[in-house]
Amino acid sequence: MPMKRRDFVKTAALATLYQRDLAAVSAAGSPRYKPMVGVQIAPVSLFDEGIDRCLDTLQEKASINTLFIYSQTYHAGTKPKNVLATDHGVPVRDFFKSRLPYLWVRNSTKAFAGKVVQHEKPNSDLEYGDRDLFHEIQKPAEQRGMRVYARILEADARREARIPGYKHVLTVDHEGKRGHGPCWNNPHYRQWVYTTIRELVTNYGLDGLQYGAERTGPLSHVLYRGVTPTCFCEHCVRRNKQKGIDPDRAKAGFSKLYSLIKSVESSSTAGKTTRTQPQTADGVLSSVMRIIYQHPEVLSWDYEWFQADEEICSEVHRIAKSIRPDIDSGRHVDHQRSSWDFFYRSAISYGRMAENADYIKPIVYHESMGPRLRWWVLDRVKDRIFNDLSLEQSLQLYYGLFGHDPSAQPGVKDLDRKGLGPEYVYREVLRCKQSVGKQAKVYAGIGIDIPWYVPKGMEPRPSDPAQLTAAVERAFDAGADGVLASREYNEMRLSSLEAFGRGIQ
Ligand SMILES: [Zn+2]
Repeated sequence: MPMKRRDFVKTAALATLYQRDLAAVSAAGSPRYKPMVGVQIAPVSLFDEGIDRCLDTLQEKASINTLFIYSQTYHAGTKPKNVLATDHGVPVRDFFKSRLPYLWVRNSTKAFAGKVVQHEKPNSDLEYGDRDLFHEIQKPAEQRGMRVYARILEADARREARIPGYKHVLTVDHEGKRGHGPCWNNPHYRQWVYTTIRELVTNYGLDGLQYGAERTGPLSHVLYRGVTPTCFCEHCVRRNKQKGIDPDRAKAGFSKLYSLIKSVESSSTAGKTTRTQPQTADGVLSSVMRIIYQHPEVLSWDYEWFQADEEICSEVHRIAKSIRPDIDSGRHVDHQRSSWDFFYRSAISYGRMAENADYIKPIVYHESMGPRLRWWVLDRVKDRIFNDLSLEQSLQLYYGLFGHDPSAQPGVKDLDRKGLGPEYVYREVLRCKQSVGKQAKVYAGIGIDIPWYVPKGMEPRPSDPAQLTAAVERAFDAGADGVLASREYNEMRLSSLEAFGRGIQ
């Protein structure tokens, strides 16, 4: 629902009070308020540019005081194309032609002995294969008063070959075929994640940790994107059975939903009132709801899937804190989870996440949100769950349901070019703050020079400097405890880092 004026006044007042609190603390002199100002950066960037030189650049241009560095890059794509960051003084690396490690930390020899899933073995034949970044960076970071966080993103099924044993823990779809990523209920996968965290926090003097998966659940996969529903592996079947959820009925429901959506895709009439398919004569949404009424198990199955992810994130946090109580351990919330996946938002609130996290970091890329909303949401739902709506109707529904002001946001034809702007950052950070209360900090993931994927390939998308500065300011206006320059340092022009830095000042 759009924010009512009364609520807006209330939240604006809260944000002002928060800023006054900060000013009071700062004026009192102790402790001096210092927000987290971070950057997401790949190990290879630090090595390519030289650690000292790179840290100086980050500090001078953007007042960076915290480094979020990948400890493993199994998830990563292979080649940045049309990346704008050509002003770093070193050539933009062609990952396609590089032989780099996927694991950037050292594990104890016996940590993964006998385990189903393993890590890549250290290999000095690889470029930087004999370097230990998290060890090497400690002193230079400390000298500059910078903190070092490790950052982990889950790798999907496409990266199976990079992780020994990963193929044994992948999800299974409704037809028994392999799915899109690791199964969150697979005990061998969980064990690998937990041992990885235990090793990481034990072996390195980390100040912080960021963990998160960029995936949603089977209902979103089917209804938004027409992707096969997962997971129906033996571990998921056992878990759901124990909860009293009938696996056969859940699978039958998902199979029917999948078939329905596939038939809508094949005869998509987006926004036209003529319905030619008998199975959607009552409208797509009613047809979907009919299946869900007849198979309510699909909702429980979807919910349990999200609970499994929560359990992993909670355990990651618990392990990290048990080894190093003062570590700043938090959650990466990807763009679909932060900004448009209705099922995820319904199942897991920020407040719930905050029960097991020191901070929450939602992605709030104000520029990318435009094309992502246009092509990853509207364009996908028009051939599926919202086939009965025009693109513009669908966009207005989105604005209304997700708390945006339609009168202040672009229509369909301007979404690509305009994005959602700094006000989107303000609203999302404020929503997150309201949900977590004092339970956790909120770091806003600010998007900088993020290239945009279009059907033909990746296009450069330079950030507007004034909008970028405003996005940082609006994140703090909403009460953010920190901002994180995202997505990757090797995509950011130095001039954009300066614009980000002006927001900090
Ligand atoms: Zn499973």
